[in-house]
Amino acid sequence: MSFREKITVYPVYNMDGYKFMSQIEAAIKFYDREPDVSVNVIPLSSKEYDGLRRQFKADLIIEKIAAVRDSDRKGKTLGVTAIDISMPNMNFVFGVTNTVKKVAVLSTARLTVISRELFTGTRTVEERIFKESAHEVGHLLGLTHCPESTCIMSFANTIKQVDDKLPILCNNCREKLKGLR
Ligand SMILES: [Zn+2]
Ligand SMILES: [Zn+2]
Repeated sequence: MSFREKITVYPVYNMDGYKFMSQIEAAIKFYDREPDVSVNVIPLSSKEYDGLRRQFKADLIIEKIAAVRDSDRKGKTLGVTAIDISMPNMNFVFGVTNTVKKVAVLSTARLTVISRELFTGTRTVEERIFKESAHEVGHLLGLTHCPESTCIMSFANTIKQVDDKLPILCNNCREKLKGLR
């Protein structure tokens, strides 16, 4: 009997990101992995908050998730949050993965913003969350950024770039993934 590898999911800060759990679970199953969903909320403190930018620091959030994950003796992990997160060299991030710690964090904050300028009419918030969750899970499994703009593994820093993606991996990334199993 063979068992599928589990990807553990934790809510970060509060449960708000779990509103999109079906998309997050679909993104894990997309790689033939099994979602292991925890309801143990990972709390954040003022240490992880940047008051000037009014955002939480993704790199410090990853450390918090890693500590809980380690004490729970879990493996590859995706934290999900609805708060706005950023990295020192970026205005914000949709998500970040630390491949050494095998921890990713996804923020739904910017993916759920709907404005007339951004709304393409063809891409839903749910699809955005599926694609960006699948992007971070792809990193957890060892995939790197892809130059193909329609591929899930292409780097997105705007909603337009997320919407330009298709909910699939390009052939190149699919081939790479086979070598990583
Ligand atoms: Zn990435
Ligand atoms: Zn690709």
